[in-house]
Amino acid sequence: MRLPVLEVKEELLRALGPEGVRRVLLKAPTGSGKSTVVPKVLLEEGGMEGMIVVVQPRRIAARMLAEYVAGLCGSRVGELVGYAVRFEKTYSERTQLVYVTDGVLQRWLAEGELEGVSCVLFDEFHERRLASDLALGRVLDLQEKRADLRVGVMSATLEVAGLEEFLEPCVLLESEGRRYPVEVSYAGAAERKRNRFGRMEEEVVWERVGRVLKEELGVLFGGQERGELLFAGKNAGFRQGAESNMLEACAPRVLVFLPGAFEIRKTVDLLERASFANGWEVCPLYSGLNPAGQRAAVRREGGPRIIVATNVAETSITIDGVRLVVDSGVARQARFDVRRGIDSLTVEKISRAAAEQRAGRAGRTGPGKCVRLWSEGEHGRRLAFELPEVARVDLAAAVGSWPAGGGAAGRGSRWLEGPEEEALGRAEKLLEDLGATGDGVVTEAGRVMAGFPLHPRMAALLLRSAGLRSDDDIESGLQSRAPDLDCVAEACFAAAVLQGEGIWDKRAGKLRERFVEEGDWSDFEADWRAVSVARENGFRVEGCKALGIQAKNAREAWQTFEQLCRMAKGRGLAVDRVRFEWNGEALARAVLAAFRDRVGVRLSEATLACRLVGKRRGKLEETSVARQGWVFVACEVTEVEGKEMVTHLRSCARVEKEWLEELFTTDGAEWDEATKKVVARKRVMFGDLVVEQEEGGELNRELAGEILAEQVLAGKAQLKNWDGSVERWIARVNFLAGTMPELEMPAIGEEDRKFVVAQVCEGAVSLKEVKNREVKPVLGEFLSEMQKASLESYAPEKMSLANGVNSRVNYKEGEEPWIEEKVQRLYGVKETPELPGGQALVVKICAPNQRPWQVTKDLEGFWQSGFGQMKKDLAGRYPKHDWGGSGG
Ligand code: ADP
Ligand code: MG
Repeated sequence: MRLPVLEVKEELLRALGPEGVRRVLLKAPTGSGKSTVVPKVLLEEGGMEGMIVVVQPRRIAARMLAEYVAGLCGSRVGELVGYAVRFEKTYSERTQLVYVTDGVLQRWLAEGELEGVSCVLFDEFHERRLASDLALGRVLDLQEKRADLRVGVMSATLEVAGLEEFLEPCVLLESEGRRYPVEVSYAGAAERKRNRFGRMEEEVVWERVGRVLKEELGVLFGGQERGELLFAGKNAGFRQGAESNMLEACAPRVLVFLPGAFEIRKTVDLLERASFANGWEVCPLYSGLNPAGQRAAVRREGGPRIIVATNVAETSITIDGVRLVVDSGVARQARFDVRRGIDSLTVEKISRAAAEQRAGRAGRTGPGKCVRLWSEGEHGRRLAFELPEVARVDLAAAVGSWPAGGGAAGRGSRWLEGPEEEALGRAEKLLEDLGATGDGVVTEAGRVMAGFPLHPRMAALLLRSAGLRSDDDIESGLQSRAPDLDCVAEACFAAAVLQGEGIWDKRAGKLRERFVEEGDWSDFEADWRAVSVARENGFRVEGCKALGIQAKNAREAWQTFEQLCRMAKGRGLAVDRVRFEWNGEALARAVLAAFRDRVGVRLSEATLACRLVGKRRGKLEETSVARQGWVFVACEVTEVEGKEMVTHLRSCARVEKEWLEELFTTDGAEWDEATKKVVARKRVMFGDLVVEQEEGGELNRELAGEILAEQVLAGKAQLKNWDGSVERWIARVNFLAGTMPELEMPAIGEEDRKFVVAQVCEGAVSLKEVKNREVKPVLGEFLSEMQKASLESYAPEKMSLANGVNSRVNYKEGEEPWIEEKVQRLYGVKETPELPGGQALVVKICAPNQRPWQVTKDLEGFWQSGFGQMKKDLAGRYPKHDWGGSGG
């Protein structure tokens, strides 16, 4: 049986050959030879002059594929076939095929135009990593200038909307290969059971996997106690199909998908002890596993094997002979909350497409089975596809690595699917804050930063650690140095720790404390001591464990540290000592520069809870140096899903508040709800974060009045003397301002009212004090003596009617002035009364019960007709009243 991609070999060579369109899109199921055979065929028969680059989303895959293909070519890795992943490259001048991670390619693209490369193959493109998306756009751009550059995009599923159009013109190649039916069954959601303490608990995933395997291993593999007996005979003839690229049968494999290393370890432990798994070799497989362990998991030789893996085994790594898949249905997913600027690592449900891929792994060499640890109903409600990274991760690293082409990347790039404006905007702002761009253009510093294989924050950290801030500094400073700020080695170490997964055991807890010293500036100091001790002990697992240190991670941190030091030195940053005095303060300052948006303040002595810039909250670690001070900066802000969502603040550095350049102080008065008083209180702010507040001190009286006025206007208290007469007075003024502009009466609006209230409150600190204060005198100041006289004559409070009755004139905003009288008090008033300015008043004519019977501006007309009707209706009801009068 030939590997399926060989079916399309001729078409592939033609498309990428001198007469072809130089672009292919290849879809073929996992295990059909995309990652191995395709590059090998191009290497041997493609007639390429330069290198073939295969881009992988995962480091583990790049390394394993290079080793395997080097073997197929009969050479050792690093010669004809090599690889390059972050901090590690194994290739030479003779290398013609190189497997790289997308991050590496991205850096190559930032530094040049892929000189010496003839072909770029994007493998596993369906993963839609941000770096791949961006790099593909760039390579397509480059193709326009370089006729010799070929591009291939490969994936097991190409249900990527718009991809074919995006690559146009391109040749689409599909190779279905042989697929056997896979029977899918649903085990339903985890059951909730009472634990031994009587609490309801969900059954843990490794126990569920155990139960499924106990059942299925027996059914599928013939109930034999020792699986190997069953397969021993067939097994004898297995041979790796290196030369012939033949897919030959191998002993059966069971593939279990779990979210992470922790669950994998638990499952492996359980299976190794379980009798039903007797005869089955059990192998873990995940990125952090050592290379030997990885090889052991995927090797073709050997008897029946259960491989317990993360989603690296979904499509990146081929495992042959899989007959049964047990799928937990979840994966750990990195996300970035754009709005809050928090990274999160949460366990999420995989999409239906991913579940399909996982199930498909069981049908490559024969009919297979897949057991899903969820229900069919729930399956239907899952997302059809995974969200591409561009929609869910921090864009700064990708955008910042793109100085070529002037503007910050992202805007000018060719996107298969562009990022959201908000996310892009945030990334650009971060780059600007870090000094990588200025006015949207990449600065010299930005260019230097992009050259480091690091997130722009780390790159900024390194530049700052060398005392470099501005472009000028960079030009001169790369030769000269500012020794007092110099902490390049320290920064390299901090960056190394931040790159990794942390050097401490999950349960290190208090053990960490013995590495912390009074006066430490950052948590990196304890990390440094710990790694140093681990190193003195040769990074031995047992010794490290006793100290709460993860030997492997510590070793990696040390290696990364050394690599970064070499790299920093190579780029002209002054780091010429590996043995150095730890310059804690300088490092803390540099860390602050790179993480300004993660400044935090502790809530109190007693708690680990903190406030962060951006109205965020988080929790410190018990042993953090941040607890030795008040203000700090947290390099890691991560929301982790456990029993509940907690935002962890890790890798902190103490900060002196004097270092915060943009601090500002709010005025010294504030409303205190408890005492209903204005109190003196100063606040020192950093953005929206209260860094410090201080009770007492000099009270700003003017401000106090304003604050009280705000309370009054918000309806929290009333001024007793602001009564109806005040409102009437204002209405009179406003009436004249509207109707007799020649008087130049000032209208009194909302703002003026506030002003008056503030005036009334002036000098006071409590509501009690202002409650009884006079209002009219303050109000009176609005008018000159002349205006006051005009007010009395043209908008009088009362006026004498023709019959001598003294009647009150009513004024109200938005209504015409009116008088309101019982009809009897209007006898003898023939015509509609007028104000001295000549405006006719509205007359509300009331019945004896004071209710308006008629509202009119024509009193004469009323006497003629309306009055007769009124008398008819009411005289009987109110016989004691005088109904004889009239206007006449
Ligand atoms: P694809 O990329 O299409 O999923 P691959 O090219 O990775 O497929 O795999 C093709 C075949 O090569 C597999 O079926 C397997 O037999 C073999 N193979 C690939 N990688 C390895 C490896 N690291 N070790 C052993 N065999 C491998
Ligand atoms: Mg592959």
